[in-house]
Amino acid sequence: MRVDTSLQREVDRPLTLKEISPKWFERLYGKRERLPFPLTPVWFKWYFELDSPAKCVIGEAHGYSSSYEQTCKECDRLGWSFGKSFFLRSHARLENDVNQFVLHWNTKHSK
Ligand SMILES: [Zn+2]
Repeated sequence: MRVDTSLQREVDRPLTLKEISPKWFERLYGKRERLPFPLTPVWFKWYFELDSPAKCVIGEAHGYSSSYEQTCKECDRLGWSFGKSFFLRSHARLENDVNQFVLHWNTKHSK
């Protein structure tokens, strides 16, 4: 077991979605209390962005790049899962995607 100083603990603190993908965090957890209604302009905008590897939640985290499709299977899988959860308007699924992604990001992609 390793002994952390409080300074190290601060450095090692896991990132939250707010820090990983701030734009999508604001969309999903900001002022809006529910997901956009299907087939409204906002719904289409989010839907197309979630369907676009560089613009979706995962893409934002990777600096609006889709390169993770080739380099990280888990990010690629989660990207599709987010799109499906949004399409199904499932808050429970989205919450699950967010938790899995944040955990994955902190394990694999944050320094
Ligand atoms: Zn990944």
